[in-house]
Amino acid sequence: MKLKEKWPVIKIILIYLLTAGIWVLVTDQVLLIFAKDIKEFYIMGVLKALLFIFVTAWLLYILIARLVNKVKQVEGSLTEAEIKYRSLVEEALVGVYLYQDGQFSYINPRYAEIFGYTQEEILNMDVMELVFPEDKPLVTENIRRRISGEVKTLRYFYRGVRKDGRIINLEVHGTATLYNGKPAIIGTLLDITDRIKTEELLRKSDKLAVVGELAAGVAHEIRNPLTSLRGFVQLLQKQDHEQQRYFEIMLSELDRINFIVSEFLLLAKPQVVNFEQKDLSIILQNVIGLLESEAILNHVQITLAYPSDIPVIECEENQIKQVCINILKNAIEATPYGGIVEIRVQRLGLDKVVIQFIDQGSGIPAERMEKLGEPFYTTKDKGTGLGLMVSYKIIESHHGELKIKSENNEGTIVDVILPVKR
Ligand code: ADP
Ligand code: MG
Repeated sequence: MKLKEKWPVIKIILIYLLTAGIWVLVTDQVLLIFAKDIKEFYIMGVLKALLFIFVTAWLLYILIARLVNKVKQVEGSLTEAEIKYRSLVEEALVGVYLYQDGQFSYINPRYAEIFGYTQEEILNMDVMELVFPEDKPLVTENIRRRISGEVKTLRYFYRGVRKDGRIINLEVHGTATLYNGKPAIIGTLLDITDRIKTEELLRKSDKLAVVGELAAGVAHEIRNPLTSLRGFVQLLQKQDHEQQRYFEIMLSELDRINFIVSEFLLLAKPQVVNFEQKDLSIILQNVIGLLESEAILNHVQITLAYPSDIPVIECEENQIKQVCINILKNAIEATPYGGIVEIRVQRLGLDKVVIQFIDQGSGIPAERMEKLGEPFYTTKDKGTGLGLMVSYKIIESHHGELKIKSENNEGTIVDVILPVKR
């Protein structure tokens, strides 16, 4: 305590010493004058001392009572503040933690909820168990920097691991502090997994839209020279009668390029949803035509079987094509060592038709089935994980159903069920 803080106390003691000294000296002098003999002097001396003791005791009592009152008041306002802070923290929508000596000394309910554990479980755990292995060095270093006093406050991102094994994206904001006299960190934690997913989705769909626009432009640029090429080949064909076979091949290849580019253009064009009555067999033949070369590269043969009375469906042609391409492409990609991919169309009762895509490829393990159709769920290096999601959406908007059955290592059957136009 500094002298300035001690001064009020010293003042009281000085006043006490002074008044006590004056009291003793003055009253003794008075006694000397008025006391008639030594006995009277003695009795009055005792009375004066008793009076002094009584008065000081009374003063002491007032002082102590005041002090106690003050302490009580301060204590009261402290608990009130503590109750306020505690409920603020306990009810908070962000995780709140107090970290010390490699463990949490306190976490709020939301913190436990973010990781899917109970509060007790986390308080008894090693902090690093909640951190994704690759991010452990980052978190360790950031804790060290604050505990050592190198920095006071840090805000950073890392990946956490939930009790159910799911990986979550986290944002932490923590400040170095003292707790029970030792260095500690107090901070907040936010689960930003959804935010990151949405940002990624926006980025990707932006990219897809740009790619679509570019593709439409490029397709136009290709189609015009193709028309003149085709014209010249036909001209040559009429003049030169020896190389007929080559001209035939050139013409059919040019037609194929033209077909692919036109299809591409149609798919890439900004889509105005326009439901029309369409013949399924033509849609499927077009789709097969588009993916034929990819199938050949994979040594996959595509077969198509449909009944003679194949019904007409009401659909947005490009969207249904898109679905068939997505599913057929998956089937081809799942058959890297070659094989057959079957497409079968069947009537399903009076008012439905089912298109089955059957492959004998890698199949899908049971535990991965429920992930299908989730955006960005892919097991391929160059996959986007958007194909099935888009397909589900399109079929849903056609009031149809998309069903996937699969046996691991046996193959997969995808059923696209669509209502029939009656
Ligand atoms: P992508 O093809 O870009 O990976 P999709 O949404 O089309 O995205 O497919 C998601 C995932 O579903 C694929 O990565 C694959 O693991 C699985 N899958 C889809 N179709 C099949 C199939 N016919 N055979 C095996 N796995 C499949
Ligand atoms: Mg795909």
